[in-house]
Amino acid sequence: MPRRTKIVATLGPATDEKHVLDDMIKAGMDVVRVNFSHGDPEDHIKQAENVRNRSRAFGHQVGVFADLQGPKIRIGRFGNGKIMLNKDDHLILDAGLDIGAGTQERVGLSYKGLTDDVNRGDTLLLDDGRLVLWVEDVSGTEVQCRVVVGGELSNNKGINRQGGGLSAVAITDKDRSDIEVAAKMDADYVAVSFPRSADDIHLARELLQQAGGHGGIVAKIERAEALDALEEIIEAADVVMIARGNLGVEIGDAELPAVQKRIIKIARAHDRVVITATQMMQSMIESPIPTRAEVFDVANAVIDGTDAVMLSAETAIGKYPARVIEAMDRICAGAERQRSRLATERRMHMRFQRADEAIAKATMYTANSLGVKAIAALTESGATPLWMSRISSGIPIYAMTRHVETRRKVTLYRGVYPVSFDVTSTIHAEINREAIDELMRRGAVRNGDLVIITKGDLMGVHGGTNTMKIIQVGEHEVIDG
Ligand code: PGA
Ligand code: MN
Repeated sequence: MPRRTKIVATLGPATDEKHVLDDMIKAGMDVVRVNFSHGDPEDHIKQAENVRNRSRAFGHQVGVFADLQGPKIRIGRFGNGKIMLNKDDHLILDAGLDIGAGTQERVGLSYKGLTDDVNRGDTLLLDDGRLVLWVEDVSGTEVQCRVVVGGELSNNKGINRQGGGLSAVAITDKDRSDIEVAAKMDADYVAVSFPRSADDIHLARELLQQAGGHGGIVAKIERAEALDALEEIIEAADVVMIARGNLGVEIGDAELPAVQKRIIKIARAHDRVVITATQMMQSMIESPIPTRAEVFDVANAVIDGTDAVMLSAETAIGKYPARVIEAMDRICAGAERQRSRLATERRMHMRFQRADEAIAKATMYTANSLGVKAIAALTESGATPLWMSRISSGIPIYAMTRHVETRRKVTLYRGVYPVSFDVTSTIHAEINREAIDELMRRGAVRNGDLVIITKGDLMGVHGGTNTMKIIQVGEHEVIDG
């Protein structure tokens, strides 16, 4: 049985060497994340090209995910790179100070509007919450703070406000130009960082389409306000990412586990895809094996029903980019084996909007109940396998399509495997035969196995799936209809 949960891995300095990328693909990476917070457009375009070339060489489809930086509010730089802050020290965050002119007393800001958003009494969290500042006063361009929890503070560290409420727009000027880069590199997914509303997602989609891109839009849930508009944001997006790093800083780490479970549930119920991200295998940045806590974290996300698990620094700057993927692969597969395949509600009470949706869901109910070995979804846009994969099952769904964009897009869907399938025949018996032959070649089915094929009357028509056919491999000389 192939692993169902997908693995997203972030590229970075540690993955630059060719053999590292090859090893990551061999270890089972499904999607690469290109992080626009680092590097320049030429690098990103080159990285995407590189991944696609290597992915072709190995015959393993890898999706490309462009992650926009968004309005991460950061302090500026210090004269000598860093300062040391002790409890009760004073520090001024000064929007009027040159970005590179930080001292022990004051430091510049990437976001000039910060003074409008904070008030005396607020708590600001620096460097993902490692340092805590209390706002004593705000005047002019200055936010005057007292240190509550000190430590070393180095260049460009992020700032969050406890409870959220910073009003920087989600799509910055840099993001707008990066969206054009994402279109140029033909990214399969583009992620919006710090969205506050469905409108942020709609805007990103519009900008991407204007730029000629076709990728799906990912909403990263990483600020407190996003939780108030969660369903609208998820509905507006194709994919939702539980960005546990920033989110945990804003809402407190104790709230995270419940929020993770809630987001996964809502995403699946809305037929959306969900990625669980950040610090999943953090110790493997330095260590060749994960901690037991990390094993359980990954396994629990799989059991919660996530489509994908994500690696950030573990691969981007870690010592063991391929080993961490191997470890995740092993843990995901183990968790999937433990899982009762009929455990989730089957949504029998829901009404279907479309014929292809009805076929997709009916296929899964049938497959789960009949002991089907594999599902061959002959698809144009990938909509049918997406619906199928929203129903819990242990049965592999092969998304068989002639469109490379569709094959790349399904790399993120749990339990869905892309297959290149370009059959132009109009004779259904022939199409069925070819589909079964392809599954046999892959070792997915054998004589006597039951297979479900879904397709439309006309090959090549989007939204045309209207047929579900149950076939016993080898038992039908003529597979018609
Ligand atoms: P980032 O997002 O890696 O872009 O910061 C993930 C998170 O905040 O968890
Ligand atoms: Mn983030």
